Amino acid sequence: MRLVLLGPPGAGKGTQGDRLIERHGITRLSTGDMLRAAVKAETPVGLKAKDIMARGDLVSDDIVIAIIDDRLKEPDVKNGFILDGFPRTVAQAEALDRLLAQKGIRLDAVVELKVDEGALLKRIETRIAEMTARGEAIRADDNPEALKKRLDAYRSQTAPLSAYYKAKGDLLEVDGMAPIPSVETAIDEGLKARKAAV
Ligand code: ADP
Repeated sequence: MRLVLLGPPGAGKGTQGDRLIERHGITRLSTGDMLRAAVKAETPVGLKAKDIMARGDLVSDDIVIAIIDDRLKEPDVKNGFILDGFPRTVAQAEALDRLLAQKGIRLDAVVELKVDEGALLKRIETRIAEMTARGEAIRADDNPEALKKRLDAYRSQTAPLSAYYKAKGDLLEVDGMAPIPSVETAIDEGLKARKAAV
């Protein structure tokens, strides 16, 4: 199973991604996690990305495409994968198409978690409050200013991917406002229906 998870910050990509990797035994490829690891390790990519990420802006397409290109060469992606946070621009989606075509593989689906913008801010505020209460470190970009930028970036640069994948017949739209187990069921049913239709 090869999936892309699409949705704004706070849409539930992390939660649903966890369930999908467990259920299908696939690997999660999160560019956000990979970039945060690079920042922490102070690699050349990390040093470039650090301030951009903290502001809530997007890192350049070249950087993330190179990261994903390398990652897709690792043996653990053979059983399938879920891309979380990539692609985030049409240029990234086109690059992904090329990378997959080179490997002779294709995506099974692009799962889009649809949520009301008004709910996102609240969800993230709750997440920050819960993490603070547990004494966990807060991400550098989990503050109102950077969050606004992340939402703006999503709206202007990532939301067009919905039409991009719809035109290819790859899009599976799911109501991300429903309770977590219902979202999970909707994704499963949607994936099953797509498989049956092939
Ligand atoms: P979110 O919770 O906003 O979905 P992520 O953990 O996926 O966040 O990403 C955090 C930050 O990492 C983004 O705001 C951006 O700066 C950078 N980033 C992650 N993936 C990409 C990408 N595909 N293209 C450009 N920048 C990215």
